[in-house]
Formats: sequence, structure tokens, C-alpha cells
Amino acid sequence: MGLCGGPCSERCFHFFPCLSDPARRSTLCLKAALVMLHLVFVGLLFLFDRDLIEKTREKPWYTALYLSLVVATLGQYFLTSGSSPGYVLDAMRAVNERDALIRSTPVSSKHSAPSKSGSVVITVDAHPLRRNLLQSNTTSWTKLVLDMYPPGSSARTWTCSYCHVVQPPRAKHCHDCDKCVLQFDHHCVWLGTCVGQGNHCRFWLYICEETALCLWTGILYITYLKSNIPKSWWVYLIMIMLLVTLSISLIFLLLLLLFHSYLIMTNQTTYELVRRRRIAYLRGIPERVYPFSKGICSNLYKFCCAPSSIYRMEPLPTAQELEEKSKPYTCLDVLSCRCC
Ligand SMILES: [Zn+2]
Ligand SMILES: [Zn+2]
Repeated sequence: MGLCGGPCSERCFHFFPCLSDPARRSTLCLKAALVMLHLVFVGLLFLFDRDLIEKTREKPWYTALYLSLVVATLGQYFLTSGSSPGYVLDAMRAVNERDALIRSTPVSSKHSAPSKSGSVVITVDAHPLRRNLLQSNTTSWTKLVLDMYPPGSSARTWTCSYCHVVQPPRAKHCHDCDKCVLQFDHHCVWLGTCVGQGNHCRFWLYICEETALCLWTGILYITYLKSNIPKSWWVYLIMIMLLVTLSISLIFLLLLLLFHSYLIMTNQTTYELVRRRRIAYLRGIPERVYPFSKGICSNLYKFCCAPSSIYRMEPLPTAQELEEKSKPYTCLDVLSCRCC
């Protein structure tokens, strides 16, 4: 800190305005640290492992494949960190724009009015009674959202006190981003953004790639340590320490991957699982009932195939739907597919 005084940092902030914000500064530092970590782990391997260099000459495709995974993982990291988690305010704007479009469409063609606003589409997982909601020309954001809650719900109960926007079910205000996020999962410090409906799939892919990279790098480290290449004690010590770090990271990544795969299959979020008793709309629902699950195949299809430009909002299940989900056969096999 003392190395760079006031004028120097001011000049720095002038050329890189984003650095003047402490939150963005720490996010950038974390991103730089993550890239550095990857470069160190991979670079040291190529620096010390002569067998790997030899193998690269003989089988260039092997090293090319490994380096492609490194690049793909870092690319996926930046893609995820730069993607929008799906902000409630953006969805509200899209609804308002669509409403304005419907109102400006002549009455005779209202039934064929597109539900598209620019590149944004809004879908509501409709229940039979709510199916005609999107076709209705009287919708506004508040009306649309309140219809997803049990009848008689007041807008005040579900209005975010920071953004002053009515939150649809599963949305939550993130204090780090200072915005309400659709299907909020968690705020990821490493990514510097929230994980929500818009980027959960990308986040899952990133964990997959990072796990594969960690595993492959670990195998290369073990191969090097077991090889007959002469090593000085400090190289041996450094490589052992890095291998231990890799092993711990791999265990953490595998657990994270399993955890998020479970969440995806049951259509839950980390926030809903951890704070289940504190979330008003989940209170009173039995522990082993997943209120938003539509069966494993449907959950996976929506997760993998729904374009990130779509704001998908899920209404709260009715008492009848919850009763269906609570039936004993669903408890015996909670992951069973009921959609096919
Ligand atoms: Zn908010
Ligand atoms: Zn956030």
C-alpha cells in the first residue's frame, strides 16, 4: 500500500475507472489470482516434467487436449462471471415493454401478438387456472407476480425494501450486487457475481470443467513424482505441496458438483435448501417435498435447454399440487421421473 501513493493510484483510477470501486477492485484481484493459480499449477509442470515435454513431442494431441481444457476452463470462468444471473428489474422492464407492445397492437391482432420483447421472452410455468395470464392484455408486473402467490397476497409483503420491486417467488435481493435476482442461488465471491436463473447452467459447466482439469493436473503431478526424473528436494517439496492443494481442491469441487447436480435434479436452489425454514413461501412444506420439481427429466430439460435470454418464473404450487407431491410414493422415490 505504501509503495503507491495518492497521485499514483489517482492516475491508475483515471485510466481504469473500475478500480476506484473497492468491491470491483477486490473482484478483479480475485480473478487475477485465479488465473495466476492456473498458470502456476500448469506452468510448473511444464517447467520440471521433462517426460511431459518428451511426450508432447511424440504425442502433441495429448498436450494440445490438456491445454485446450485449461483454456476452456478459464474461458468458461470469464463467461460465467460476465453473464447476468437474471435480475428482477430486467424481467420487469421486459414485461412492461411487452405490455406496451400489446397495448399498441390493434385489437383485432391482439391474440397473435408476440410474447417477445426484443430478444427477451417471459414465460410463467402456468398452472391450469393461470394459463391465460400471459395472453391477457391487462397484466402489469405487480399483477403478474401476485398471481403466482396464493390468492389474497399483498404486494407489500413481496416488495423488496431495497429495489422497491415486487419479487416473484424464488427471487431474492443480493446485498453484494444490490439487485434482486431471479431464482437466486448464491453470490459467488470467486466469480464476483450472483448465481441465479440466468447463469446457473454456465456455473455448473464451469464446475465440471474445473473438476476435470483438477483431476487431470493431479494425475500429471503424480506421474511426475513417481517418475525417475532427478529432482532436488525443494522441487519435490513444492510439487508435493501443490499436489496436496490440488487434492483438497478436487474434493471440494467434487462435493460442489454433486451438490449442485442434486439441486438441479430436484429444482431447488442453495438458498432455498439452506434457509428453507426462514423462507416464507416454503414454510409448512414437508422437508422431503420439492415444491418446484416437475420430475427429474423435466427439471433437467428446463435447466439445460432453456435459453438464458428467457425470464422464467414459477408460481407457487397450489395446496392440491403440494398434496400430490406429498403422497407416499413420491417420498419413496423422490427423484423418480413423473414426466415420462
Ligand atoms: Zn432487491
Ligand atoms: Zn450478488
